Amino acid sequence: MEAKKNIVVIEAGYGGITSALRLARLFRKHPEYQIHLIDRNPYHTLKTQLHEAAVRKREVSISIDRIIKKRNIIFHLGEVTRIDTKEHIVHIEFGSLAFHYLVIALGSQVIFIISLQEKVG
Ligand SMILES: Cc1cc2nc3c(=O)[nH]c(=O)nc-3n(C[C@H](O)[C@H](O)[C@H](O)COP(=O)(O)OP(=O)(O)OC[C@H]3O[C@@H](n4cnc5c(N)ncnc54)[C@H](O)[C@@H]3O)c2cc1C
Repeated sequence: MEAKKNIVVIEAGYGGITSALRLARLFRKHPEYQIHLIDRNPYHTLKTQLHEAAVRKREVSISIDRIIKKRNIIFHLGEVTRIDTKEHIVHIEFGSLAFHYLVIALGSQVIFIISLQEKVG
């Protein structure tokens, strides 16, 4: 039997979850493709709802297993440490995963280059 073709999605934030769910739908009649989702956290944070957590103590994290339930998506919990684009391998802190297709959606980090004091001072 021929090995499945891995479509690997790195991260389960808004970009990654949306990509994985849409890919699962797109390839639902193509069992030769397997979708993998990787994130360092076992939950997806509804970032746009964070203020609700502060004000109303509302739950803003959803288990990734719950989101991908009954879909052709395998979730891997761990930090992505390296991507080998030559060998087509994603290295995760506890192992590695070969990919045929890769979606990178690692989000962004805020870097404050100029401090507020410098700006107003
Ligand atoms: C309070 C708040 C309110 C917002 N409101 C709005 C709004 O109203 N409208 C709007 O359009 N946008 C809003 N945004 C911005 C929006 O949340 C971001 O644009 C969006 O979350 C970006 O999605 P993303 O998938 O790129 O990354 P993120 O949602 O940041 O997800 C990144 C994911 O990558 C994972 N990750 C990162 N590095 C690694 C690694 N090395 N290995 C494994 N996993 C890793 C993290 O665990 C995380 O799950 C808001 C943001 C905040 C903080």
